[in-house]
Amino acid sequence: MNEVASLTIAQVREGLRAKTFSAVELTAEALRFAEAENPKTNAYLAFSREMAESAARDVDAKLARGEDPGILGGVPVAVKDVISTKGVVTTCGSKMLERYVPPYDATAVERLKAAGAVIVGKANCDEFAMGSSNENSAYGPVRNPVALDRVPGGSSGGSAAVVAQGTAVVSLGSDTGGSIRQPASFCGVVGVTPTYGRVSRYGLVAFASSLDHIGPFARNVSDAASVLQAIAGRDELDATSAFAPVDDYQVEMRKPVKGMKIGIPKEYFEGLAAETGDKIHAGLDVLRRLGCEIKEVSLPHTPYAISCYYIICTAEASSNLARYDGVRYTARAEGASLTEMYSKTRGEFFGMECKRRIMLGTYVLSHGYYDAYYLKAQKVRTLIASDYSNALKDVDALVAPVSPFPAFKIGEKIADPMQMYLSDIYTITGDLAGIPCMSVPCGLTPGGLPVGMQIFAGHFQESAMFRLAYAFEQAGGVA
Ligand code: GLN
Repeated sequence: MNEVASLTIAQVREGLRAKTFSAVELTAEALRFAEAENPKTNAYLAFSREMAESAARDVDAKLARGEDPGILGGVPVAVKDVISTKGVVTTCGSKMLERYVPPYDATAVERLKAAGAVIVGKANCDEFAMGSSNENSAYGPVRNPVALDRVPGGSSGGSAAVVAQGTAVVSLGSDTGGSIRQPASFCGVVGVTPTYGRVSRYGLVAFASSLDHIGPFARNVSDAASVLQAIAGRDELDATSAFAPVDDYQVEMRKPVKGMKIGIPKEYFEGLAAETGDKIHAGLDVLRRLGCEIKEVSLPHTPYAISCYYIICTAEASSNLARYDGVRYTARAEGASLTEMYSKTRGEFFGMECKRRIMLGTYVLSHGYYDAYYLKAQKVRTLIASDYSNALKDVDALVAPVSPFPAFKIGEKIADPMQMYLSDIYTITGDLAGIPCMSVPCGLTPGGLPVGMQIFAGHFQESAMFRLAYAFEQAGGVA
């Protein structure tokens, strides 16, 4: 089974049906391969062999009884380590949770399991999902499988790398300000950030709750759509999860795109380097040839997005991270008094970026600054969201770059947080607006690094987004 690195969900289904392999055999090979490859990238933090083998046995038993094993039956899946997995350590890339074993599964994980998925391991990530390069993980950076001296993007760098490397067929990541789309674009895979509320956040360790999303990575659009199909939909355990019905994405994405109207936000192309820009323009040419109508639109509040995002996300993070205090399920550094124990624990087990964000967030929420920063940022967020709803009145979707530059070298930006934060300039607006958006591979730079094309659609219009991405992929994308 030497093709394990390039398997798709359809091929897994076909292989199981034709008895080319059993789910138990596939799982054994997937785990062997993943463990052997991992030293190259450090993309997995842990393997969940027992859980995977037992899931595979269930799939084989169902097949033997002639039952449907589910849309992800037997498929090897990796899960970002900020998503809770019952009985399997969930560190969030932090020393704070080095030994934390969740007593329950996140709803998305429970739904993956119900769909027959075989969870092979937990993917490395920036600490508490804060970062754009995966260099903020307490367990070491992930290397980009396309170019091992480069970052895979972040914060879901491990989830993107395992799919690019072929050590999982698909994976789950989380996106608060671009952490699914940016690593997908850096590693040359598909990454989807669904509408806010489309996928339950229950069991996703909170970073910035009003911005956090769970979504899939895959090697093609159809696989990403199948994973979203499995995990989407209302969940009583997350009050912000939406009641909106979930479309049949496999049917919807195959509908023709001829006549679809696409908006190009002009602010996203101003000053964009040719290295990335040429590929996105080539991608737009493909969509034109497919019969899409393309017109320029404006998202005028784009220049305020980074400031707005880093005020809101740090404010929410400072509150969410208050629970890691050494008293409950975290690591603890002993101290002579309670206060000393708190401060030693937080000082010792949080990394630099978490501390920076807790301090910023506490500041913007403090008396006297709340109105000037936090409240103002919330108003700007509303303006950014209305930019999108205005633009999407006239068009079915928007197309833009994912990142201003391709994967950068490990170490290149880590000393300069402002430069790092600028990586997110094209992705954070989608999270602030809560609309579905995705990255689809759009060729390579002259230096051979992957470029991602970003597609945005209106709230709960994942079908329109998938339709465009699927047609683009089927047309061969961009070389
Ligand atoms: N890079 C952004 C940040 O550091 C986004 C992170 C994310 O989406 N989780 O906050």
